Amino acid sequence: MQVKFKEYNLPFHHPFTISKGTKTHQPTFVVELDYFGIKGYGEAPAISYYNIPVEKIIADIERKKMFVEKFSFSDPERYWHYLHHLFPVNSFLVCALDMAGWDLFGKLKGKQLHQLWGLDTTKSPITDYTIGIDTIENMVAKMKEKPWPVYKIKVGVPGDLEMVTELRKHTDAIFRVDANAGWTLEEAMQKIPLLKELGVELVEQPLAKDDWEGMKVLFATSVLPLIADESCVTEADVEKCHALFHGINIKLTKCSGITPARRMITQARALGIQIMLGCMNETSIGTAAIAQLAPLADYVDMDGPLLLAEDIATGISFDNGKIIYTDLPGLGVAVQPF
Ligand code: MG
Repeated sequence: MQVKFKEYNLPFHHPFTISKGTKTHQPTFVVELDYFGIKGYGEAPAISYYNIPVEKIIADIERKKMFVEKFSFSDPERYWHYLHHLFPVNSFLVCALDMAGWDLFGKLKGKQLHQLWGLDTTKSPITDYTIGIDTIENMVAKMKEKPWPVYKIKVGVPGDLEMVTELRKHTDAIFRVDANAGWTLEEAMQKIPLLKELGVELVEQPLAKDDWEGMKVLFATSVLPLIADESCVTEADVEKCHALFHGINIKLTKCSGITPARRMITQARALGIQIMLGCMNETSIGTAAIAQLAPLADYVDMDGPLLLAEDIATGISFDNGKIIYTDLPGLGVAVQPF
């Protein structure tokens, strides 16, 4: 197996602001596994608040590339275990390689992954479209630019309730809000009932990621479903979030790939909690990987290719939120050659 990789710094259509800050570009790492001429691709966007920059991903792969290449590839799950031990503190790199392994596996079998797993893509929920924090005027303009059935609105800043109130005047679409850990318990308790009145469907990560005591109180009183994102990073967190959140947001990059994400889905279902599949502004490569799992989710947030002004692959598209799959094997995407 041969490993090649490339880094990109892709511009957003609009500067993207959440409660943690603003960015204009998304740095991302893309890897190619070449197995006797068949190529699998995987991706990991770098997210500053998880402290794994692209430079760290590249340094780690360069240091241990030989070990990744010498693995005798037979199935992606075995490969993930090997990678997990090879890079124990770099879940982003493990994610990119795991994804590429699954893409390769699907291509070797001549099927798209959801077909190999026996999933029914007609059951895939529609994806939301994210409206980042901005002036109200600009947020309304972003909504008008992209009429959509479900919006995810970033909140967790002063004046956010007024923001949602104003946006509601311009659309009947379903709203979800994501506070990105930006509220105190008092704020959350005060705002959530008012957000419900504004037609908000769910709240993502209301409190700080380790405010378990606060979540106990909020979970007992919340009139809206609460979904863990920053509080639920890896498989070990699923159990912790159970009985404090109504659901979890599973993201391939933070949990280290498709292999652990599938186990998290099984675990969440067994615990009776809801599943959101989320993104970290992936291009069409990482987004297509999320789409493979979408039939298993209650909510889907995979709007990376819609927010980015440049893409590096084709094969995933949306019709008013509905995911359109291709007939290509593996992840179902065609990637720009390196
Ligand atoms: Mg979130």
